[in-house]
Amino acid sequence: SKIIIAIDGFSSTGKSTVAKQLAQYLGYVYVDTGAMYRAIALYALQNGYVKKGEVDNELLIKDLKNIQITFQYNAALGFSEVYLNNVNVVSKIRGMEVSSYVSKVAAISQVRQKLVALQQQMGESKGIVMDGRDIGTVVFPNAELKLFMTASANTRAQRRFDELVAKGNTAVTFDEVYNNVVERDQIDTTRKDSPLIMANDAIEIDNSNLSREQQFDQILALVKT
Ligand code: C5P
Repeated sequence: SKIIIAIDGFSSTGKSTVAKQLAQYLGYVYVDTGAMYRAIALYALQNGYVKKGEVDNELLIKDLKNIQITFQYNAALGFSEVYLNNVNVVSKIRGMEVSSYVSKVAAISQVRQKLVALQQQMGESKGIVMDGRDIGTVVFPNAELKLFMTASANTRAQRRFDELVAKGNTAVTFDEVYNNVVERDQIDTTRKDSPLIMANDAIEIDNSNLSREQQFDQILALVKT
């Protein structure tokens, strides 16, 4: 029968890569919860709620009811894309600007409450692979399979940097990406509400030295539907 697979871990540990592979293989729905937090960070930027490098939590919280986050399946890509108030924001949310504010936005309790509720609704029909930071601990504490992905900060920053360059972002430097990855981990692990932590019953996968294929095979062996 269909199960829920929760994939958590630090930034750029390849969570989405393996989540997409699993969803495609099993015929499950893939949900990228980081994209949801990123879409709210984008909204804050677009509406002037970021001032002098800080997010104005009060203004953003007041406006949360006007933010609608949805997913729409893209058949050509084989997975769903995130929409912010009916606009596809997939490419915008990957930039460095959103990356530099998203963890501050994700530390706001009201933001987490809104998105966790939405994520739980999406999992009601099972057959879901969800990746994030609190999926196995908060969103689906009863998920049948929980994975916790790790890799060295250097490996992670290099992967994210290569990805950005491949997408044509030539302005970004490796140091910027490295610092952003480390800063987000720091905020994610120390925030008061649902800090990033490995669930007791999660299986840790260190993929520093694994190819995508090796990682997929290792994880697929853990899936018992
Ligand atoms: O997964 P991704 O790196 O795109 O997530 C962006 C940021 O969103 C993370 O650094 C984290 O601050 C936040 N996030 C979160 N909880 C989740 C998913 C993402 O706090 N479930």
